[in-house]
Amino acid sequence: MITRLSQLFLRTLRDDPADAEVDSHKLLVRAGYVRRIAPGVYSWLPLGLRVLREIERVVREEMNAIGAQEISLPALLPREPYETTNRWTEYGPALFRLQDRKGNDMLLGPTHEELFALTVKGEYNSYKDLPVTLYQIQTKYRDEERPRAGILRGREFVMKDSYSFDLDEDGLKASYHAHREAYQRIFARLGVKYVIVAATSGAMGGSASEEFLAESAIGEDTYVRCIESGYAANVEAVTTAAPESRPIEGQPPAVDYETGDTPTIATLVDWANSADLGRAITGADTLKNILLKTRLPGGEWELLAVGLPGDRAVDEKRLEAALEPAEFELLGDADFEANPFLVRGYIGPRALLANDVRYLVDPRVVNGTSWITGADVEGKHVVDLVAGRDFIPDGTIEAAEVRDGDPSPDGRGNLVTARGIEIGHIFQLGSKYTDAFAVDVLGENGKPVRLVQGSYGVGISRMVAVVAEQMHDDKGLRWPAEIAPFDVHLVIANKDEAAREGAEAIASALDIQGLEVLLDDRKASPGVKFKDSELLGMPLVVVVGRGWADGKVELRDRFTGESRELDKDTAAAEIVKAVRTAV
Ligand code: ATP
Ligand code: MG
Repeated sequence: MITRLSQLFLRTLRDDPADAEVDSHKLLVRAGYVRRIAPGVYSWLPLGLRVLREIERVVREEMNAIGAQEISLPALLPREPYETTNRWTEYGPALFRLQDRKGNDMLLGPTHEELFALTVKGEYNSYKDLPVTLYQIQTKYRDEERPRAGILRGREFVMKDSYSFDLDEDGLKASYHAHREAYQRIFARLGVKYVIVAATSGAMGGSASEEFLAESAIGEDTYVRCIESGYAANVEAVTTAAPESRPIEGQPPAVDYETGDTPTIATLVDWANSADLGRAITGADTLKNILLKTRLPGGEWELLAVGLPGDRAVDEKRLEAALEPAEFELLGDADFEANPFLVRGYIGPRALLANDVRYLVDPRVVNGTSWITGADVEGKHVVDLVAGRDFIPDGTIEAAEVRDGDPSPDGRGNLVTARGIEIGHIFQLGSKYTDAFAVDVLGENGKPVRLVQGSYGVGISRMVAVVAEQMHDDKGLRWPAEIAPFDVHLVIANKDEAAREGAEAIASALDIQGLEVLLDDRKASPGVKFKDSELLGMPLVVVVGRGWADGKVELRDRFTGESRELDKDTAAAEIVKAVRTAV
């Protein structure tokens, strides 16, 4: 096909959109790929839709190659299945809930584990039918708290979601690995730089799961890597390398001290180092206690105290993942007033436990560790309060920040942190959903077998933004050949009638060879056309310009910036060759 820029439904913008902070967002709007309709809700214009369809094509090819079968479920769904699994409430405020005219509750699907489990239950009843993997490429709805960067985090977005159903855990593992490999092929074809990290399973439930994160400084996910061992995990999934517990016997007794006005860790450490305790004290020797209230979906608020070494901040995302599906808030003034045993700045484990506040501590607080912490009285702290002797917490919680240089959980080196954007997620769900709907088939021995399920997602619309983000330069977008809206952008930069006809002839020759050609036939200056060709980002730009009189056209590579002259008679053949070698 030849698409003429003079006809294409496209307006490029000179200025960045006011609401855009991220380069890919600015460029996709300026280059006329997408348009904003509402926060997190975007329209796809012709160029954007072409990229989206190309990504879908690559994903479809790789899903089909592992034997997955495409179906399509509705986005508008009844409440009942989500009620059965409790996700109607557990999914929280991100779920778009609505009512039909008869007052029936409905939702817009955020992910479809329930419906796929029910679909398989509806069609299959024998072990002979298994395993099966089904997928769809479909529009999802999530009322994200912070829609961001245009299509990167939308409230309406396109996802490929697939679900495997197997007779046993070994089958599930095989399906999981087939997906893992398919995802590696997909992301390699898209030219994305990514890492695979261990993940938490969040609202989805289930056990083993990994995330594919595109490397990007603007990513919202923090992950860690251990260069020595190859360990990689989303920061939410990092388990703290806990020290060995220490003997309690022989440790000095806990002693309360007047510490004066010392409500912060810094002031407490200063006091401790001036108090002649016989050792140098740092924030890591103190235990700070953070007061929260948590609430399970549909439940009541409950107090929760989190104890962690004073030199560590709470990582909200880790805390959130650790408490999931409960939500949490920091305690407010009214809560402190209602619980006078909580002396702000001086809260210690003893008052928490005496007043039945649930108390979870950082995994570093192992039995036998000794702490300087609050004595529950204004201006007082306790020294040598020993875990397992003077207080016994209710358990541990992974809520402390992970830092560069922390030991790797596998004990084989140190962690480095980096940021990424989640592009895919694979889960071994197990039987959470098949239990909920009793998805059984008749086994070989005549007894029912409960199916085990896997769930696998790729962010299709997000991928458009991710590729734009990773590949762009200061001049504009740059699309890899595999998913570019057009193979070739042919610019007519010569008013001469012979040159124009020559360009048309090259365009036709490329079209006949099956290439997608964008022909800039507009009556605009060469400068404007070149700028647009850089902004729009096709991988190859052909210029029919001044050289035409000497029988030359120019072929520019948008990625390398290199250009070479082609002879006009062999230009079409050369361009076809360049396109074929690029893909
Ligand atoms: P995130 O942590 O970024 O919110 P998620 O864990 O909620 O992602 P999943 O539920 O695993 O994501 O969804 C599968 C894939 O769908 C993700 O890997 C991501 O690529 C994509 N995705 C999720 N939420 C959005 C969104 N709001 N906009 C665009 N794509 C999304
Ligand atoms: Mg999410």
